[in-house]
Amino acid sequence: GNGVDMELRAPICCILGHVDAGKTKLLDCIRQSNVQGGEAGGITQQIGATYLPVENIRERTSLKAEVTIKVPGLLVIDTPGHQSFSNMRLRGSILCDIAVVVVDITRGLEKQTMESLDLLKHRNVRFIVALNKVDQLYGWKTCINAPIAKALKNQTDDVQREFKWRVTEVITQLMEKGFNAALYYENKKLKQVVNIVPTSAVSGEGNPDLLLLLVRWVPKIMMERLTYVNTVECTVLEVNEDKDFGTTIDVVLINGALRNGDRIVVCTKQGPVTTNIRYLLTPPMKELKVKGVYTHHEELKAAQGMKIAVRGLQHAMAGTSLIVVKPGDDMERAEAAAVQEISKAISLMNEDEKGENEGGTELQEICRIKHCRDGVYVQASSLGSLEAIIKHLKTLALDVPVSGCNLGPVHKQDVMKTTAMLKRKEDVDSFTDHMNKLKEEMKKQCAADAVFPCTLKILPNRVYHSKDPIVCDVE
Ligand code: GDP
Ligand code: MG
Repeated sequence: GNGVDMELRAPICCILGHVDAGKTKLLDCIRQSNVQGGEAGGITQQIGATYLPVENIRERTSLKAEVTIKVPGLLVIDTPGHQSFSNMRLRGSILCDIAVVVVDITRGLEKQTMESLDLLKHRNVRFIVALNKVDQLYGWKTCINAPIAKALKNQTDDVQREFKWRVTEVITQLMEKGFNAALYYENKKLKQVVNIVPTSAVSGEGNPDLLLLLVRWVPKIMMERLTYVNTVECTVLEVNEDKDFGTTIDVVLINGALRNGDRIVVCTKQGPVTTNIRYLLTPPMKELKVKGVYTHHEELKAAQGMKIAVRGLQHAMAGTSLIVVKPGDDMERAEAAAVQEISKAISLMNEDEKGENEGGTELQEICRIKHCRDGVYVQASSLGSLEAIIKHLKTLALDVPVSGCNLGPVHKQDVMKTTAMLKRKEDVDSFTDHMNKLKEEMKKQCAADAVFPCTLKILPNRVYHSKDPIVCDVE
């Protein structure tokens, strides 16, 4: 606009796709490491992040000096794609600017590819398709780390024919999912049509193409989104105990800057906690999962993954945002925002139907409810109480069906909603028994002095408070 170049931040990219499509291997290829070999069963269990400075990408793609790249680097989130980790996949896709959907060229679109595509469509996330394992085409001649055009030129007519046929097949499958797609070098509508990059995560063909698409094409189509702003936008990925630093949280800083000593509000199971950043750290190689000597920083700017050492955050919740409070800021407001964050994280989980599968995080544990269409909707003031109540409903002979959960006070509209959910007579009957048992249990709970400041919404038509098992009947 005004002739001054805006400062852009590194795009954040996550990798999705069916199990065994080559996500881990492709990530290794992108960051030139070998994580896959060291993983248990080859499954990536935790989200990690890797930062690639643009110089690294220039060197590896032999980019000419006169070609400019407007972003300082690329931040790759290692999102696990195993079906047990759909929640983390969901989280990854929310914080990323661009996704790479890995598809095995010899298998085409598979079940989890479809799920990933649905997720991306639902969340409005742009993506690139990495058509991986081209080296597995029969008769493929390896051209290590070559650009795909060069590698294809080296192949026999037969291989090229098979390649074309397989690409067309995938394009058709994508079309059936509602996406127009084309090989990126044949794509004339870069904004509207999904780019396909053929790759091999083993011999590296097409890898330069993928890297350049990420750092050159992505900023072109989302300049505004990648414009660096001072407002902090930061997501907690993991909470760890470190023998040197105590509690640390791994975060992705999406925008803004964090400074040593910054006052922050973080969502925890017990509610929002305000604390100070004691240390701002980056691991060696900018690989969050590799143990080793950390680098200390006074300030770090987005987009980057980092480790923060903090006091009192043992129960910090992965997947929520961290809020920075400046001197003079309204603390109550910041804390209210944090509560909102927890609530958001939970509703996302409720939304994600696969949330009932096995998983890893604490929040997932708590919210891992068999989502019955009809059931108790549990609402509590803190995650701790929510956990206690859900556990309670699941233990003993209670086995109360749960339809969902959330944090915060119960409003009239919630009651209306839950009432509307159960209209049929038989549903009401099936609950009578459950509710009687529940009443007994809640009474015992009260007597045992283990009362939580929480509210239970029970279908149909009734609201119960734990302090006084039957407070009101809304008929
Ligand atoms: P993920 O489950 O999507 O993370 O898949 P992995 O990266 O663990 O890869 C699954 C298997 O496919 C491993 O044995 C890899 O070595 C292999 N693989 C991944 N990418 C390629 C590729 O481009 N070419 C070949 N030949 N094998 C690959
Ligand atoms: Mg993997």
